[in-house]
This record gives sequence, C-alpha cells and structure tokens, in this order.
Amino acid sequence: MKQKTGPKNYQFQTEIGSLLDLLANSLYSNKEIFLRELISNAVDALAKVKFDSLTDNSLLDKDEELKIDIKVDEKEKSFSITDNGVGMTKQELVDNLGTIAKSGTMAFLKNLGDQKEKNLDLIGKFGVGFYSVFMVATEVSVETASSQDKNEFAHRWVSNGEGVFTIEKIEPRARGTKISFKFKKNTHDLASKWRIEEVIKQYSNFTPFKIEVNGEQINRQNALWTKNKSQIKEDEYNELFKYLSGTAEKPRFTYHYNSDAPLQFNVIMFIPQKGNNALFQNQRDSQLHLYCKKVFIQDDCKDILPAWLRFVHGVVDSHDLPLNVSRQTLQNNPILSKIQNFLIKKILGEWETLKRTNKEAFQEFWQNFGVFVKEGIYSDFGRREMLLKLYHSYTSKNKDEIVSLQEYVDRMGPEQKEIYYIHGKSRSQVEVSPNLEYFKQNKIEVLYLYEEVDEFVISSIGTFADKAIVSVDKAEIQEPKSDSKKVDDKKEDTSTDSPSELQFTKLKENFKHVLGDKISDVHSSKRLVDSPCTLVSHKDAPTFGMEKALKMMNKDFSEAKNILEVNFKHPIIKNMIKIQKRLPQDAIIKETIELLFDNCLIIKRNLELDSLIFSKINKMLHKTTSIYLKSLD
Ligand code: ADP
Ligand code: MG
Repeated sequence: MKQKTGPKNYQFQTEIGSLLDLLANSLYSNKEIFLRELISNAVDALAKVKFDSLTDNSLLDKDEELKIDIKVDEKEKSFSITDNGVGMTKQELVDNLGTIAKSGTMAFLKNLGDQKEKNLDLIGKFGVGFYSVFMVATEVSVETASSQDKNEFAHRWVSNGEGVFTIEKIEPRARGTKISFKFKKNTHDLASKWRIEEVIKQYSNFTPFKIEVNGEQINRQNALWTKNKSQIKEDEYNELFKYLSGTAEKPRFTYHYNSDAPLQFNVIMFIPQKGNNALFQNQRDSQLHLYCKKVFIQDDCKDILPAWLRFVHGVVDSHDLPLNVSRQTLQNNPILSKIQNFLIKKILGEWETLKRTNKEAFQEFWQNFGVFVKEGIYSDFGRREMLLKLYHSYTSKNKDEIVSLQEYVDRMGPEQKEIYYIHGKSRSQVEVSPNLEYFKQNKIEVLYLYEEVDEFVISSIGTFADKAIVSVDKAEIQEPKSDSKKVDDKKEDTSTDSPSELQFTKLKENFKHVLGDKISDVHSSKRLVDSPCTLVSHKDAPTFGMEKALKMMNKDFSEAKNILEVNFKHPIIKNMIKIQKRLPQDAIIKETIELLFDNCLIIKRNLELDSLIFSKINKMLHKTTSIYLKSLD
C-alpha cells in the first residue's frame, strides 16, 4: 500500500510563537527589512555552495551562475525569492525554521520589550531574521531541495505564523530554495518593482551574488575597496557602510587602505556613530566581510579583528589567502594574523592622530568607544602599551574635558608619587566620599571613573609611567609628606582642647566594642578634613568599586570588612570624648557611633543620595552632642 504523504503538522518552539505574534502585530515601520533578511539567508546558502564546490566538482555546473532571483507582481501583490544555494533537507526545515539554535537569541527575544523599533532592526543578528517575513505576509511558503539529500527529495514548508507549520514532499526541483507569499493589506506599497529595487539598493547593494528583480540585475556588485581612493565619492562609502551595518546611519569614520607589500590586500573599515556594547555583552555587533581576489568568502569573519574591536564594520580583500580557505583553517592562518596586525596598528594610529589633531572629536569618540578600548586594555595584553596611550578619564580638576594618563602624570606635583582614582556613578556622587577630602585639601588631582568596567581595567593596569595607580579608598595611601605635615600642625595649634592619648584609645575601644564584627579595625585618620569618619579598604582587599562589580556578578558575594578611620579633630568626635569622660557607658555614645558608621556604609555603597545629606546629619549630630554635653553640667 502507498504511504500517505500529505502535509504534516509541526509546532513552533514557544519562543518563536511569541516572536511571530509580535511581528505579525507590530506597528514597526521598517517592515522592508524582511527583504534584507531573506537576501542575507540566500547569500549564506549560495556561499555554502560556492565553498563546497571547491572540494566537490560535481556540485556546480561550469556555467551555472549562483544568483538570487526575485519576482514581484504588482497586480497580484505577490512576491518570491529564489536562490540556487544549498537548500534544506526535511530535517533542516524542521530545525532551521521552527526552533532557535543560536545562543543569545533567547536573550534578544526577552529584551525586545521597550525599544522594539530599534531592537527589531537587529533581528538578523540574532539568528531569527527569517521570521521577519511575517511582518509583511500572512502565509509563507518555502520550497526547497538540498544538495545533501541523496534521494533528491524536495519539500514545501508552509505557515501562517500562528504557532504551527506544515511540511510536505513535493515534485523534485533544482537545488536551492524559493520563498513566496502575498503581501498583507497594510504593506501593499512594497508590492512594486520600484520599491523592491529601492530597498535592495539601500541594504543589499554590495551583495556578492547577482540579484535580479523580474529579470533585471539590481545590485552593483562592484568591489569598491579595490578602487582608487581618489575616485570614490563619500556617498559610495556611505552606501557600503549601510550595507555592512544594516543601518541607515552614516559612518563616524571611514578608513580605506590599499596595501601592496609585503602583503597585497584592500580594506575599507568603518567606525559607526555608536557602539552597541550594552545591548548584549556577548553578542558581536559587527563582523568583517572577507574576500579573496574579489571573490566573496565569508560575511562574518571573526578572526581578523579581536573581540574588543567588534564595533568595526568593513571589508577585507586579500590576494594572498588561498581561495579554499575554510573557517577552521582561517583561524591559524599566518597571512590573516599579519593582516590583523596591520589593521589594528592602522586603527590605533588613526585614533592617536585624532587625539592630537581634534580633541573634541576624540572626546566624542571616547564617550562612545572608550569602553571597548578599556576592554582591549584588559584583554589584549600585547597591545596594552599602545592602548594605554589612548586611555582617558575625567578628573577632579577636569569636569568637562577628558585627560590622558600621560597628561595627568605630567602635571603631578613633585611630591606626588602615585596616580589616584575614585570610582562612582557620577561626579556628584564621587564627591560625596570623605576619602577625597585629603586630596581636595592638598590639591592632588584624582581620576574620576564612572564606568562599570573601569574598576577592573584600572586595577589590571597596576602602574603607568612607573607610578602605581591607587584607589583613594585604599588604607595605606603614601601621602606626600611635607604638605600634609603642615596641615596637621596648623590644626594641632588651633585646638586648645586636644584630648589626651588615653582618651583617644578609650573612644577607639568603644567604637570597636559597639561595631564589633562590622569592621576589622579602627584607625585614627590622617586623610579626613571635614568628616568625622570614613571606611577604607585593606591594602590587599578589593577596592570598593571592585566589590560593587563583584557583587553585581554574584549576589552572594560578601563584602570584606573595612577599617573605620576616625577623625579625632572633628567636633563630633571631640564631644564624644568629653561625654565619655564623664559618663563612659552613656547610650548617646553608642547611638552616635552606630549612626556615624551607617553613614559611612551608605557612602561606601555609593547609593544615589543628595550629596548634602551627610553634612546635614553631621551638623545635627554635632548640635545634639553639644546640647547633651551642656545638659550634663
Ligand atoms: P540565521 O540566518 O541567522 O541563521 P534566520 O532566521 O535568518 O537565521 O535563518 C534560519 C536558518 O534557516 C538559516 O540559518 C538557514 O539554515 C536556514 N535558511 C533560511 N533561508 C535559507 C535559504 N534561502 N537557503 C538555505 N537555508 C536557509
Ligand atoms: Mg538570516
């Protein structure tokens, strides 16, 4: 008996179901990006055939042209795109057009939320680009035959994007895939040859295979990067950037190099307006497109530039790489690593020049891409020296203009032996810290670091120009001797009612007794000027900023105990000593100690608070202890 071969039902993975819902109902305005996604899939399929044919002669007829054939019917409002790429077997249809394989995709779908417009634009980067077709179609058919299918079966996949799809066997057809549908009512404007051409020119003009619409070639397919720089117009560069980045923006910088010796290659690279680091940390924003002698090899070459340069878009065309280079062999290819070195050196050189010649543009660049350079400092050890020259930050002296480490070192006073930094969310927040008081008083410049990665990066640098880089929150800051002495002496002189050594020790003991486990020790402070006390970290413990970062990565991370530094010249502390002298067990001492400590903890944890609150609390505490003291008379 003959087996029944009608369409068989399959269920989409739940997440795809929700994505389809969203796509079908979104008011998203860039619906035409579906075309970019279908073309990009066709290109992948064609590139695979091309690559396989290098080792399998039977795959490609000598005069068979690899191309993409689009048909659009304005009357019928119908559309189809056909490629003679690798095609899909039945199992591949189930796997590729029904489930999510790529890591990072789930996160993408979950995060679509607020910024749908912007995020949907990136759909192709998250391995679900195909489904964007449901923005413009209610029912989609995919007919396909795989070069891998020994039985030469062909199959049709059909879905209306509502949770299920069907697959059935169809009459044998040539290798490749045809996707067809009718445009939805609200997208009829796309059902025209003119519009389709326009969209192709916008997003897919440099596609490495021929694209025909109703029989006419649309894309230019010329290798802009091999042309002479002087003959290229800015518009042409912009167009290439649009194609590579999939955005409508203009590039921030364009770098074009033609190298003849020792290696022969042509490169165009673009720095976009903004990096995309925050979106999903491990998702690579851009990849270089790799060509060998104008022949397209790969559009997602991750091996040319290191991960920290993932925001660079571009095309690399090499004459020295073998045509049959594979993804696996590429990684260890010595020619590629030479090209890599060349490119990175060039890129860093461009930024050095920018720094010297146009500070304003450099600052804007740094605001957008500094975080990537910092990642490079942290991860790309061999280039750390070069990258450190680019490192910039705000400082206590520079509110609006960033300063390089070298500039900082150049203007250090003769007494200053170290580079100091503090980490926090913003300038106003950083300046709440009592640990800055000493530096303010002595006019010592401190780097103000606001980015999460800063703490890791700066502590990984260790030293710059033979100067140790030290957090102001660290316990043992080597202070420039002469100046600090002067300040101390002056204070000592004016205080007629200095308490005795013994009384210090007694109050210290009291602090330790009341705070117990919460602190590791109590020291009398040299760094405080206006505040009664502060927390500092041990020399070998993580800095406060580092603790915060570690805590964000691991909720169970427990903070190290800190040293409490007490300013024994502060009026509150002086009052406490006097009260203690008369009533050693008095509750107000315990209460004041607790409140002072809580304040320190809040400052340490860097919560967003009105920066004045602490001086208000301290004023109040001073008043309370003074009145209390008077009442004892
Ligand atoms: P991505 O292209 O990032 O993998 P898509 O959602 O665009 O994600 O496509 C999913 C998969 O479907 C592709 O990886 C590919 O295996 C398959 N596919 C889509 N279109 C084609 C096509 N025209 N020819 C062959 N395979 C295709
Ligand atoms: Mg795709």
